[in-house]
Amino acid sequence: MTTNMWFFNGIRRLGRTERFPDAEPACAARWSTELAGSGTVSCPAGAITDNHWDAGRCICCRRCFPAWTPTGNVRLSTVDRVSAGQKFVPFKRSLYLYAIDAGTCGACNMELQALSTPHYDMNRLGLFFTNSPRHADALIVMGVHADRMDDVIEKACDAMPEPKMILALGTCAISGGIMGKPPRTCKPPLVSIPGCPPNPYTILEGILKAKEVSSE
Ligand code: SF4
Ligand code: SF4
Repeated sequence: MTTNMWFFNGIRRLGRTERFPDAEPACAARWSTELAGSGTVSCPAGAITDNHWDAGRCICCRRCFPAWTPTGNVRLSTVDRVSAGQKFVPFKRSLYLYAIDAGTCGACNMELQALSTPHYDMNRLGLFFTNSPRHADALIVMGVHADRMDDVIEKACDAMPEPKMILALGTCAISGGIMGKPPRTCKPPLVSIPGCPPNPYTILEGILKAKEVSSE
């Protein structure tokens, strides 16, 4: 969606907050949603093999269009059940998030920040950002692996109180995309939130999924 469209969309909706996840998204940008199709294409990220689309590798470059087209489905996050089982913890009311930029282009950060705007209003769902890992329940890691960030991520993880969880936000953090490899602490992440950058709805869904898993 272009900037102009966002402007007019805001006027049309009169600043109303989303009803997602109870209702389907009001205005999701389609190219960061699920892709469906068939056929072999020259995918620069190796996200399409044997007629299967790997959300965690896709960099949303659109080169595969029209053989593969967006479906509009934003519910793309996945949970690593093995890790979830090992870290079975209850987060019943609120979830405090601490984000680390391991080496991003800046776009994942912007989409994550969008969650605190009135349009998405993450606070209504009991989700909050915190400026200290000591107060965080979940660590959100964005960007590709960078040697000097390994220690930073590890220290943040150590500083977080138990119970804690890790979320990999964006293709870079999940698979490394075409930029490199994922950060060391994201192998494997508890929750993967795919997209390049991920749609804010997908981020919201991934964080809520993490909260639900931990209170199963
Ligand atoms: S949009 Fe995704 S799946 Fe399609 S070519 Fe680009 S990286 Fe590959
Ligand atoms: S996943 Fe895409 S948008 Fe996010 S940091 Fe990597 S290149 Fe940027």
